[in-house]
Amino acid sequence: MTQSKHLPGAPHVHYEADQLMVEGVSLRALAKEHGTPLFVYSKASMLSALKSYQDGFVGRQARVHYAMKANSSLAILQLFAKHGCGFDIVSIGELERVKAIGADLGLVIFSGVGKTRAEIRQALQEGIFCFNVESVSELDVINEVALELSTKAAISVRVNPNVDAQTHPYISTGLKGNKFGVAHEDTLRLYQHAQTLQGIEIKGIDCHIGSQITQVGPYLDAMNKVLDLVDAIEDLGVSLSHIDFGGGLGIQYEGERPPSAQDMWAELFKVLDQRGYGERQIIVEPGRSLVGNAGVCISEVQYLKPGEQKNFCIIDAAMNDVPRPAMYEAFHEIVPLLAHQSSPMAVYDVVGPICESGDWLGRERSLNVQVGEHVAILSAGAYCMSMSSNYNTRGRAAEVLVDGNASHLIRRRENTQDLLQFERLLD
Ligand SMILES: *Cc1c(COP(=O)(O)O)cnc(C)c1O
Repeated sequence: MTQSKHLPGAPHVHYEADQLMVEGVSLRALAKEHGTPLFVYSKASMLSALKSYQDGFVGRQARVHYAMKANSSLAILQLFAKHGCGFDIVSIGELERVKAIGADLGLVIFSGVGKTRAEIRQALQEGIFCFNVESVSELDVINEVALELSTKAAISVRVNPNVDAQTHPYISTGLKGNKFGVAHEDTLRLYQHAQTLQGIEIKGIDCHIGSQITQVGPYLDAMNKVLDLVDAIEDLGVSLSHIDFGGGLGIQYEGERPPSAQDMWAELFKVLDQRGYGERQIIVEPGRSLVGNAGVCISEVQYLKPGEQKNFCIIDAAMNDVPRPAMYEAFHEIVPLLAHQSSPMAVYDVVGPICESGDWLGRERSLNVQVGEHVAILSAGAYCMSMSSNYNTRGRAAEVLVDGNASHLIRRRENTQDLLQFERLLD
């Protein structure tokens, strides 16, 4: 029998004998075939993450709108659309992605604090499900654009419930002092104003308190505050057909133990039932929790550089590929693709080739690797490829989706020609 060792938080990434696999596919084989750096995603992992929400919603009126900014690759969007998801978008470019896969534009929610008139106009013309409005001035602009088009815009107001999601300040969005949402105390006035606008159809209410949340507590707090507002709004004679609790459920990067979506929603539906909202249409907008643990970024070791104070392991992936460590000091587990059984470990800072001290992927990691071998950066399915850049004139990595024993190239590697095509020389 071959030995199979599963890695924490990544149920579809495991060692078979000494080879790191995603589902039934060897990552070394993919590195040879496609080169590195390379993102590899497990289809089964994404679908089981989605199923956890859907199992929690059985018998309920609830729908998942995938927040595609976490990973907007078309093949991944196709997968989620096929399995019943709508989408949460934050730009017209993301709406074009929904169009490109031929999914139902009537299941698109448009979030974000800075929608332009042109974006609002196009989204209205395409017939999206609703706008999540973030301010009075935005509401007025949406109303104006809708009237110009002789239509009504379906809206929900994003409220800021002022709860601490107990996560990194850069990804906490539901506290006073964040740029997001409408303050709790201003919400009633905004709904009253919305009622007077001819171009506006009030549909719902929403909140999104942050990201990488690993406890149910902040969601319960936010839910109670939002439901207090729903009570008050409906007392004004405005009825809300849906309540949207946003995204934000965390994944495992470094030993975190977030609840499963199914368990969390069992608790949240208890509150909804107690308060008489169990039959209401519920919407969620998860991003990270659907894709984060499904992806790895594999990279080749270029140089080992021993130092007086530190040893460096220099790999061919960098902050332009996996920006989370540089941006948020985020931790990603890094493991070798080939598990040497017995030879000794050394401690390295794992860094990329970019000319910035911020270009690091992991600090003080025990690794047993040699030049020319590969490592995998784990939990790289969310906010990595979608945040990647061309800094240092580096083409973006390729992406592969694994399905059982099969692998599909879903995005080819960018070459230098791709990068130069928009530029013009002076005469
Ligand atoms: C980013 C975002 C999400 C998804 O957040 P995750 O933490 O990835 O689940 C959902 N809704 C809104 C409005 C967002 O901005």
